[in-house]
Amino acid sequence: MNTQPDHRHLGARMDLFHFQEEAPGSVFWHPRGLTLLRLLENHVRQRIRPEGYQEVRTPQILSDAIWKRSGHWDNFRENLFVIPDEAMAIKPVSCPGHIELVKRMAPSHRALPLRIAEFGLCHRNEPSGALHGLFRLYQFTQDDGHIFCAEQHVEEEVARFARGLFAFYRSFGFERIRVGLSLRPPSRAGSDLVWDRAEQALEAAAQLAGLDYQLQPGEGAFYGPKLEFTLEDARGRAWTCGTIQLDFVLPERFELSYINAEGVPQRMVMLHRALVGSLERFLGFLLEHFDGSLPPWLAPEQIVIAPVAESHRNHALALMDRFESAGLRSKLDNRRESLSRKVFDAQSLGIPWFVAFGEREAQGGTWTIRERDGGRMEMEPEAAIAWMSEVSALPR
Ligand SMILES: [Zn+2]
Repeated sequence: MNTQPDHRHLGARMDLFHFQEEAPGSVFWHPRGLTLLRLLENHVRQRIRPEGYQEVRTPQILSDAIWKRSGHWDNFRENLFVIPDEAMAIKPVSCPGHIELVKRMAPSHRALPLRIAEFGLCHRNEPSGALHGLFRLYQFTQDDGHIFCAEQHVEEEVARFARGLFAFYRSFGFERIRVGLSLRPPSRAGSDLVWDRAEQALEAAAQLAGLDYQLQPGEGAFYGPKLEFTLEDARGRAWTCGTIQLDFVLPERFELSYINAEGVPQRMVMLHRALVGSLERFLGFLLEHFDGSLPPWLAPEQIVIAPVAESHRNHALALMDRFESAGLRSKLDNRRESLSRKVFDAQSLGIPWFVAFGEREAQGGTWTIRERDGGRMEMEPEAAIAWMSEVSALPR
């Protein structure tokens, strides 16, 4: 029987997360699962920091004045979690928070482009029938970011984003990336004149970046056209993850300006961008794509060490310290279970390597490394640690 991997089953088998009726559309992250989520988050962070992004955190609950101004109150109301009688809503996006923050900074033209990022915890009230594991949730984390700039920066910023995005996807082994240029949707904010300008600017940017894109009429976001980047998984399914959207509308609505070289306030332009979109959805996608065998750098633990007898326990503990200093995450399996049981459990958790630590190993002899796919290798301890640490290094 050919069963397709389902991330909800993998999540249970690998002890990553679970769901409960009492909290629909929200995840109970287990320790291993949260480690995984943090590994992904840090990978994104390490990618965007050299690009000049500054990380922020903005409020979770904001008054209706903000959401009316952003258009969410009128156009996205059924998806908002509104706090009754208080005229507040839990944020479905981080954009208005970032706008308020940049307004407070009152940047001069010299500070532009200003790149702001947030791993924003967002809530969207989806129809309950649409909820689907990690793929569609009420509560999720967006790798949200905004570039606040002048119109003349747009092309270079889009090109720079696309370069970073392609490199980021390559680090997971994704080489084939489809690009779509989504144009004005039927229901939208802003005049046709503004949309003409935005669509032309984004298309020029896509050309400058050398992107091979397809036009997607009617698919744009409420406030502007966007470029969408779609990956293909091991089963040939298409996943739109990265996006960059050009927005003239929100800066206008929120009266967001910078001070130009002549000391005159000038309307800003805003780009909304994300590498993965929802971190949870991206993890669900990775789990299914790799069928639970995540690349070692993304595995919550890379190695299980199982002492053969009680007398080997201290050796094993000392070894864990060495793994730690080599940048490896290890786990001790000290249960009173058979070796075959321990190997089976480590494989079920998707841990790349397993070493039983007995008399030969305690004497400094070679290790038998069992791999999660059933393979075995004999290696000298030093060489084994060096090799595992190299394979587990965060991709550049
Ligand atoms: Zn945004």
